[in-house]
Amino acid sequence: SVERDQMNVVVIGHVDHGKSTVIGRLLADTGSLPEGKLEQVRENCRINSKPFEYAFLLDALKDEQSQGITIDSARCFFSSRKRDYIIIDAPGHVEFVKNMVTGAARAQAGLLVIDAKEGVQENSRRHGYLLSMLGINSIAVCVNKMDLVDYDQAVYESIVTEYREFLEKINLHPRVFVPASARDGEGITSFSENMSWYKGPDVLEVFDSFEQPAKKIDKPLRFPVQDIYRFTKEGDDRRIVAGRIETGEVKTGEDVMFLPSGKKSRIASVEAFNVSDKPTRAYTGQSTGFTLENQIYIRPGEVMVKESDPPCRTGTRFKANIFWLGRHPMIKDKRYKIKLAGARESVWLREVNTVLDASSLSASDKREQIERLDVAECVLETIKPLAFDIATEIAETGRFVIIDNYEISGGGIVLENEPEGKDRL
Ligand code: GDP
Repeated sequence: SVERDQMNVVVIGHVDHGKSTVIGRLLADTGSLPEGKLEQVRENCRINSKPFEYAFLLDALKDEQSQGITIDSARCFFSSRKRDYIIIDAPGHVEFVKNMVTGAARAQAGLLVIDAKEGVQENSRRHGYLLSMLGINSIAVCVNKMDLVDYDQAVYESIVTEYREFLEKINLHPRVFVPASARDGEGITSFSENMSWYKGPDVLEVFDSFEQPAKKIDKPLRFPVQDIYRFTKEGDDRRIVAGRIETGEVKTGEDVMFLPSGKKSRIASVEAFNVSDKPTRAYTGQSTGFTLENQIYIRPGEVMVKESDPPCRTGTRFKANIFWLGRHPMIKDKRYKIKLAGARESVWLREVNTVLDASSLSASDKREQIERLDVAECVLETIKPLAFDIATEIAETGRFVIIDNYEISGGGIVLENEPEGKDRL
């Protein structure tokens, strides 16, 4: 069988605006529920004499999944004709943000849910902000509970106008807005006559219209060097450059470059461990080693790229979004360690541009430090140049962790490189 396309999507919105109902409906209406689950939940409701809710489906599934294992990020699955979806759902914003910046969970797209009767709330704005800070820019908006406003087009349009205006300000451009009533199954996988004024896609079609980022193997080669092994073979002094291929692929005979040093060479051989046939190609996900045609001196922490690919960025100063989990606030001009791509270097916080409190999601401008549970857009600086990527282009080498006193205290994504600073230590 052909491997099916898979996509992670986060569904987010103000509490009670109907996220779980939208998800429950998607699961039920695409036939993605385990056999008998719907009936079981309906029966439970009947026994306890409470009205059935699609949102209960999620609770039932979560209970089942979490038995015996600790999960800090609940997931559920459904399939369309086009692909399989994993819905990332976190019990709180904090876990969600943490999982997103550390890479434990990765969403390629987001669906924002808004209650048509309640309209755009402070939280709806904060959620937009959060998605923007996490670098999730493939998004759509579902205006839910249209039944409560008699499927009135004018109400829908005014929410669309207001929300779109806000989202554009923070550089989020929703692919589409969809009116829906998740409770009544309207606009999720089909529409009735109630909203004949709406000509766009339903929520399921919106999911299918989200574009996949390039597959890891189709991306440029990124091979952070972990180690260099020296050995002597038939009197020859040879070196194996070892690491894990984060993205892309490479073959013997191809021209490569190491960054940030800029040293160049050519792949002489692919050194696979524990196999008898020598491969001539290595690809994404493999832990492997290479010998090079000439003996150049490279350091662990450099990133090997292909000369024919776009290189990664190099520099000592870059803009990033950081999620801070440290016991003490992250403060300016104190030395921390950063682990980025293969490198581990000293790093300093130079500027804090904007801060979003992950638990209340309230935002504020310029601050002097980053408190625990803040998501901050800031400028970081190292002394030695680093090789990295912009997270929206290549997430694997665009994410980092910050270490304070031997403890992982924060995680983040690289937004862009900055001109070299004047305030270097
Ligand atoms: P969440 O907190 O965002 O996950 O919201 P839920 O999905 O749990 O829904 C909150 C409440 O709104 C529940 O009582 C749902 O039955 C109700 N609800 C959800 N969608 C709709 C809808 O389309 N129409 C109406 N009238 N109620 C809805």
